Amino acid sequence: MNHSQQPDRTAELQPVRPEWDAASRIVVKLGSALLTDRATGTLNAEWLRSLIEDVSELVAAGREVVIVSSGAIALGRHALKLPPGPLELEESQAAASVGQIALAHAYADLARTRGLTAAQILLTLGDTEQRRRYLNARDTILTLLRLKALPVVNENDTVATSEIRYGDNDRLSARVASMIDADCLVLLSDVDGLYTAPPGSGKEARRLDVVTDITSEIEAMAGDAGSELSRGGMRTKVEAAKIARAAGCDMVIASGKRFNPLKAIAEGAPCTWFLAPADPVTSRQRWISGQLEPKGTITVDAGAEKALFAGRSLLPAGVSAVAGTFDRGDAVVIRGQDGRELGRGLVAYANKDAQRIAGKKTSEIADILGFAGRDELIHRDDMALHRVHRSDNS
Ligand code: GLU
Repeated sequence: MNHSQQPDRTAELQPVRPEWDAASRIVVKLGSALLTDRATGTLNAEWLRSLIEDVSELVAAGREVVIVSSGAIALGRHALKLPPGPLELEESQAAASVGQIALAHAYADLARTRGLTAAQILLTLGDTEQRRRYLNARDTILTLLRLKALPVVNENDTVATSEIRYGDNDRLSARVASMIDADCLVLLSDVDGLYTAPPGSGKEARRLDVVTDITSEIEAMAGDAGSELSRGGMRTKVEAAKIARAAGCDMVIASGKRFNPLKAIAEGAPCTWFLAPADPVTSRQRWISGQLEPKGTITVDAGAEKALFAGRSLLPAGVSAVAGTFDRGDAVVIRGQDGRELGRGLVAYANKDAQRIAGKKTSEIADILGFAGRDELIHRDDMALHRVHRSDNS
């Protein structure tokens, strides 16, 4: 991809969102298509230099920045002379192991020129799905920030297998943002935001300035575009927005096809903001709602839905259906009668037991199962409901 040498001056500026100036902890995700030159498969070093320049200015202003960087596979496949087109899993893992070294070197060198110390963190899905490992990864990143280092995160592609990997850094970066309680997640992309129709769909498309709720219309706008280099496309960006918003973190999709892309955001370059709802959630709820692979679904009746939003636990009596295979303690999706996702929770019974007590009174549990379990199927402390959304003027 060619980077324009100058910011696009013809693009209209927009008022800078107050959320940008207020953000003190920022996660910046850069895609492979920005970081590498497609034709030569090499690093766009000048572009990365300009990004690190922006980062160092933010850090000098007292803000904390974590980078989530793709590019390992793109760089490695070139070095290994792998053919263009989709790679086998083993090939992309081999490519990642080669490319990650180059990537780490580039970050270390460029950070040093700006007086920063880069730190590499490679995460797998398990590191964010299991609570103990999640807390451990979080402590490492927070310690690095306290020590004024610049954490650079990527997925540990060399060992992650297809069933247990993120595969895209959009959702990984949202999970990282949620994990460290970031205020803002920036997804630098080859597009400058979310458009009302997917690129190349032939429909007239308008960029949205602000999104305050992930409705089915918003999901439809995302389509499922994605290029060979960027795993993500808009679909995973909208998924990332859900994770970030659930954590109270605002997200912005902005163009990285320019030098100094973060400075551009601060100067009002066009972009799309996904604003988080205003009410805060606990870090436990955040972890629950950000789970990528819930193991089952519990459908509740209208009365239970009301009770949940009034702050009550979910009792077996309010459950109309149980699906999936899960154990006690696993994350499940809670749905309303119309199929809408109401939230997520950690279930107190395995699916077989949950099925047997669904719709039954709490006082009957012991008789039905032959043992006395918890009164609640999902305790309210183990539940993260999708909250009421704050309104915005656009
Ligand atoms: N982790 C992959 C890499 O470093 C990239 C995933 C993505 O592009 O979203 O190559």
